[in-house]
Amino acid sequence: MIAILKPGASDAQIEKLSQWFENRGLQVHLSRGESHTIIGLIGDTTKIDTDLLMGLDMIESVKRISEPYKSANRKFHPEDTVVDVSGVKIGGGHFQIIAGPCSVETPEQISTVAAAVKASGATLLRGGAFKPRTSPYSFQGLQGEGIKLLEHAKEQTGLPIVTEIMDLHQLPLFENVDLIQVGARNMQNFELLKELGHLRKPILLKRGLANTLQELLMSAEYIMSGGNEQVILCERGIRTFETALRNTLDLSAVPMLHEMTHLPVVVDPSHATGIARMVKPMALAAAACGADGLMIEVHNDPSKALCDGPQSLTPEQFDDVARCVRAVRGAL
Ligand code: PEP
Ligand code: MN
Repeated sequence: MIAILKPGASDAQIEKLSQWFENRGLQVHLSRGESHTIIGLIGDTTKIDTDLLMGLDMIESVKRISEPYKSANRKFHPEDTVVDVSGVKIGGGHFQIIAGPCSVETPEQISTVAAAVKASGATLLRGGAFKPRTSPYSFQGLQGEGIKLLEHAKEQTGLPIVTEIMDLHQLPLFENVDLIQVGARNMQNFELLKELGHLRKPILLKRGLANTLQELLMSAEYIMSGGNEQVILCERGIRTFETALRNTLDLSAVPMLHEMTHLPVVVDPSHATGIARMVKPMALAAAACGADGLMIEVHNDPSKALCDGPQSLTPEQFDDVARCVRAVRGAL
């Protein structure tokens, strides 16, 4: 990190500031120019608040050289992280497909879809029990009952289950959930992230609707700094000026995140596009650009789905997508 001081900064002020940095374990390198003094900081500056520095009268500007995330940073952990979700490995060459309905609706629905997606090669079962809906009048999910139905589908199929947590107080219900999803709308619910950091259970962290990759990694950092290093990132489309699709799938996030971090990256082409016929081309593109997995919504009868029917694939469509994804992976 570099701090450029204003021309009027006195020796006493510079000495005091240098001392402050040194007390935080940093090495200080002073460079005195004709008008400006530059302070170069060597060491772990992740805990230095740049806004706090900018608030000081004597500081003209502050520039970070290294990223503010450490645990998630590939520089400090060059090997890919492989996350183990109850025996299903993801990352570091292990590719998995998470599939299932947007929401768990009935015992028959989740059992039918679970069996179908398993037969087509999905290795993890998704299903929303707590649903973050834009309208309070829309179906809010079966909540605790939905998680029980997922657990039952897991007993029937052996597929580990993935479902979204929306609030801290729901955590006791997630004891038998194999992969806890933090949805796009909660990506920066820092209290929730901190609490999930105390668990020793994998977390699927979805990118927020209008969040940068650095912000996504800072949210992963919240979980990891608590000691839970099992984080999977998910690109699910961001909001742009385009309205023809539900969101804009930022596929360039995949290779970029692979440079920035060692964590696995999966792509959700269902929420990214909002249109069932767009899911296949985007799923194939995600596989081609190096995603570690996919998350795809599948419903036994999309026209009757209580949530996200227009983007849900039928089991037959999913079977075709899964087959073509395998072909793309094979061709890489
Ligand atoms: C979901 O996966 O069910 C979901 C609500 O996704 P997102 O948080 O990406 O909108
Ligand atoms: Mn959905």
